[in-house]
Amino acid sequence: MKPLIELRSDTFTLPTSQMMDAIQEAVLGDDVYGEDPTVRQLEQEAAQKLGKEAAILMPSGTMANLASLMAHCPRGSKVIVGNETDIYIYEAGGAAVCGGIMYEPIPTQPDGRLDIADMERVFPLEPEDPQFALPSLICLENPHNRMGGRVLPLSYLEEVRAFANEKAVPVHMDGARLFNAAVALDVNAAEIARYADSVQICLSKGLSAPIGSLVVGTEDFIQKVYRLRKMLGGGMRQAGLIAAPGLVALQQMTERLAVDHANALRLARGLAEIPGIVIQVEDVETNIVFFRIEHPVHTWQTFVEAAQAHGLHVAELGHGRIRAVTHSGIETADIDKALSIVRELLQFQTV
Ligand SMILES: *Cc1c(COP(=O)(O)O)cnc(C)c1O
Repeated sequence: MKPLIELRSDTFTLPTSQMMDAIQEAVLGDDVYGEDPTVRQLEQEAAQKLGKEAAILMPSGTMANLASLMAHCPRGSKVIVGNETDIYIYEAGGAAVCGGIMYEPIPTQPDGRLDIADMERVFPLEPEDPQFALPSLICLENPHNRMGGRVLPLSYLEEVRAFANEKAVPVHMDGARLFNAAVALDVNAAEIARYADSVQICLSKGLSAPIGSLVVGTEDFIQKVYRLRKMLGGGMRQAGLIAAPGLVALQQMTERLAVDHANALRLARGLAEIPGIVIQVEDVETNIVFFRIEHPVHTWQTFVEAAQAHGLHVAELGHGRIRAVTHSGIETADIDKALSIVRELLQFQTV
């Protein structure tokens, strides 16, 4: 089989050799006893980098979001989420199952924003009336995966912060790819995180670590997440094996995301030239490219299959759109190769 150009996800990134060395050399302890020095160091560096009091290592982004929602929201309350978010679509309804929390899905704008007016409607006019379940949290996803890796503008985050303050509810940010947003806006990640009470970031996406996420927030909040992590089965013993590559991810892998963004733009511009591809190049802000197939012969299904047979791996990700994600290990030459595969596929089969 031909070697694949793997563009299905930035989760296919393998740990770097520096990460493998860091795993070998990691000083370990039992993290359920709070005695793994490498985990402590990662949590301290993450908190500092994101401008928050404290951080906690989690096994996955899904558990990081779940524990955060459970820490913020009383049972029987509502969490305001975008209807295209990972939390609402891909996390198995955990907040409802484990937390007794109602999801209140809000239409997602094409750029990943939730309109303040749509959120406003969730708050009852008479909150003291016992009929109503009350909203207890606003969740934002930034960058927004299913809306094409779009980055929420800081001015919008400021508006949401002011609205949340007015309503006296906290804001949680699913920042699985927060550093992609920071690179795209050319600001420190803390400049984005400051608008949210809690943020979850994934080490295992473009940052290339094999496993892990972090939640950051106040000391008190992280203390609650700590208990919930144990309850959900996420207390890990020699977790320094995970934290060590995570430290390399935070220290060495954030700036290089700019390369992935440049490659994504190169891919998008190239695709836009190919008849049979429908794409909005101006929507590409980070490492995610969405496009459609409108072709006399190919549907997205046959396209995805044929592309794979020719060495290009992409996948459908909602509403018949195909997603391609750039990441470390994908070079500019791979993008050009991918484009020539697509060109050939769509051209040869035109009637
Ligand atoms: C990947 C991802 C998650 C979940 O992370 P896992 O580690 O796969 O559980 C959450 N939110 C967003 C936006 C993601 O892209």
